[in-house]
Amino acid sequence: MIVPAEERGRASAPGAVTLSRKGAARWKNGHPWIFRDDIFPVEFPNGEIVTVRGPAGDELGRAFYGAVSKIALRRLAGPRETVDETLVRARLDAAIDYRERIAPGVTALRLVSSDADGLPGLIVDRYGAHLVLQALTAGIERLLETILDHLTARLSPASILGRNDAAVRRLEGLSEEVRALRGDPPDSVEIEDAGLVFLADLRSGQKTGLFLDQRENRAAAAGYLRGKVLDAFCYDGGFALHAARRAESVEAVDASAGALARAEVNAARNGITNVTTVRANVFDHLSEADRSRRRFDGVVLDPPAFAKSRKDLSAAVRAYKEINLRAMRCLTRGGVLVTCSCSYNLREDEFVEVLAAAAADAGRHAVIVEKRSQARDHPVLLGLPESHYLKCLILRVD
Ligand code: SAH
Repeated sequence: MIVPAEERGRASAPGAVTLSRKGAARWKNGHPWIFRDDIFPVEFPNGEIVTVRGPAGDELGRAFYGAVSKIALRRLAGPRETVDETLVRARLDAAIDYRERIAPGVTALRLVSSDADGLPGLIVDRYGAHLVLQALTAGIERLLETILDHLTARLSPASILGRNDAAVRRLEGLSEEVRALRGDPPDSVEIEDAGLVFLADLRSGQKTGLFLDQRENRAAAAGYLRGKVLDAFCYDGGFALHAARRAESVEAVDASAGALARAEVNAARNGITNVTTVRANVFDHLSEADRSRRRFDGVVLDPPAFAKSRKDLSAAVRAYKEINLRAMRCLTRGGVLVTCSCSYNLREDEFVEVLAAAAADAGRHAVIVEKRSQARDHPVLLGLPESHYLKCLILRVD
């Protein structure tokens, strides 16, 4: 049983963490993360489940305690909920039930999405018969056996791979490693996505193998893209291959040779012959395309997060503006720009401002025809703005 060490109703009991007034206000507003500055100093093992109290000793709920991270508490439950193995299993079931309802038959998707599914730091992605798991907090690491047992009982996966090589684990005082957690995970798995097959590199691909958060956006973008298309920051060709089915030709650009090699394999496996890959820095590639007056009817921009923190924001804004300005200049009249930002530090309204400035500088009349976010298997937790990170705007550029 996982129960906090303290007895209820004793303000100074071990196992309880007391919040400052500011911390309590944040908690009551629904933010699930409390920083160390907002708690009274305590010493608990990393990842312990503790009771959270307000400054007057009132019980606010339960949280994971992080002894190393700047985030000292991560909310697990409100005041009247008991945190035990039953609750963990119920949260896993609720997360999986929801995906089965919204995405029946989709075999590559996120089954558990951390705080949004009430399991802070737990990511579980499904790739066909296999699962890939990330335990990104000390609290989740401690519950791992319970979680693995339940996933095995409920889903009977062929294997579960731990992709615990994410750098954020270091901030939690955890080691980075990739290892089999159940069964014998393969290096890569072929998955199906809206009628196409893709090779997911589970052990060494980015994230857990694929950018699952863009799944719905790739299908939506394909509905707009025709003629000559440029897929910039293409990774393994996700947007490119979906677009290729209706476009005349697609040029897919990325800096990673490994990603492009997979894009070519993916194209071949789908019998797609109108995609060409180019290894280049997108900034240089777009400048060159603009200088040499090459024109596209559609451009996809899906760069990595340029603003990893709020202090990177002004450099990031310059970078987003640069690529969007260049892309707009390369678009034919009435062309379509599918432009993404996965930096949660750049809010959607700020991103729209960047795009407006880029259109003004490019001298183009641009309208937003669709505003999109991350796929619905990556839900946004109310109270946690950080969980709304992906913006995907579709523009028509005249
Ligand atoms: N569109 C992809 C995901 C893109 S992730 C999909 O739908 O799956 C971002 C990609 O940008 C990575 O593949 C990375 O290799 C590439 N990248 C990062 N910086 C780059 C640069 N300056 N020029 C070209 N590619 C870059």
